[in-house]
Amino acid sequence: MRPFDYAAPATMTEATQLLRDVAAAPLGGGTDLLPLMKDGLVEPSRLVDLRRLPGLESIEPVAGGLRLGALVTLDRIESDDAIRTGFRLLAEAASAASSPQLRNMGTLGGNLCQRPRCWYFRGGYRCFRAGGDACYAVGGENEYLAILGGDPCYIVHPSDVGPALIALDAQIALQGPDGRRFVQAEDFFVGVKESLTRETVLEPGEIVTHVELPAQPSGARGTYLKAMDRGAWSFALAAVAAQLALDGGIVRDARIVLGGVAPTPWRCPAAEQALVGATLSGTTAALAAARAVEGAQPMSRNAYKVDLARGLVERALARLMPDRGSG
Ligand SMILES: Cc1cc2nc3c(=O)[nH]c(=O)nc-3n(C[C@H](O)[C@H](O)[C@H](O)COP(=O)(O)OP(=O)(O)OC[C@H]3O[C@@H](n4cnc5c(N)ncnc54)[C@H](O)[C@@H]3O)c2cc1C
Repeated sequence: MRPFDYAAPATMTEATQLLRDVAAAPLGGGTDLLPLMKDGLVEPSRLVDLRRLPGLESIEPVAGGLRLGALVTLDRIESDDAIRTGFRLLAEAASAASSPQLRNMGTLGGNLCQRPRCWYFRGGYRCFRAGGDACYAVGGENEYLAILGGDPCYIVHPSDVGPALIALDAQIALQGPDGRRFVQAEDFFVGVKESLTRETVLEPGEIVTHVELPAQPSGARGTYLKAMDRGAWSFALAAVAAQLALDGGIVRDARIVLGGVAPTPWRCPAAEQALVGATLSGTTAALAAARAVEGAQPMSRNAYKVDLARGLVERALARLMPDRGSG
């Protein structure tokens, strides 16, 4: 591992100054960054530890919603009463990520900014994502990779929390050398047509400081389902974050976001349109699920993900039917 400086600023001004260095990296829980450094995939000259910064560990009520600091850990998201009551799908998504030990260390900000798990990228290949000129997954071992939005780089975004935040219409607060800005969670992730080497809109020196969850409409209920190749401690083969607003059995609003199938969390507007205004039933769930995977272009070894994602959407919607008592 290349030698690096370590700094633990106590103020945001100091942190911003320290992060101005082009080769500086913000450090949250370190569960992704440190393995990347050990493998030589990133080589920061300075780690800027965010954990002494004030106010980034809090969960606060704001205008009927919640504001979560970027340093809130995944296990707190999983167990916090206000999140479990009002934003259940986020608690479910956090609890589906990795293992209890990693959730105890891993932060919200770090989870959104973690790097992809494609084994060619992580294995040191000079692929697009590593600044090279090929995607080795196309003719290679592509079973865990993208079926939607992939061309020309077929990574899948590894975050379980990202799809949940988009389904909840969250905003992400960023702080950088030029000040503060907010982006919708949906606009935070960058697809492969925009960039082959980064996964978020973060500019150099910018960090995530907070996530704001807006008040949800009346009748809101949501759930997160994830399929893995073993019972726990695995990234999603496919996942779905589904958030509906129901009036009786009628769907007034719907947000359906897939995880584990595309380079970004993948919103499914056609599925949402199939639901809004309809009575939530097995038939509408099946139609929406089919729409969710429209346009999928599987590679040689990952066609199974099309059926998997479709099945997860259908099951998630069945779970949200009024007589199931979910919320
Ligand atoms: C074995 C294993 C299994 C895992 N399984 C899953 C899983 O199933 N689902 C899932 O979602 N995740 C999974 N993860 C990833 C883990 O949950 C995330 O690594 C964790 O949430 C990252 O948080 P962290 O605070 O440790 O990030 P760090 O490792 O500290 O940082 C990760 C990246 O984000 C940057 N960063 C950190 N904080 C900020 C910030 N506030 N603003 C801007 N940039 C920042 C860092 O510079 C780095 O590039 C797994 C990880 C491992 C090692």
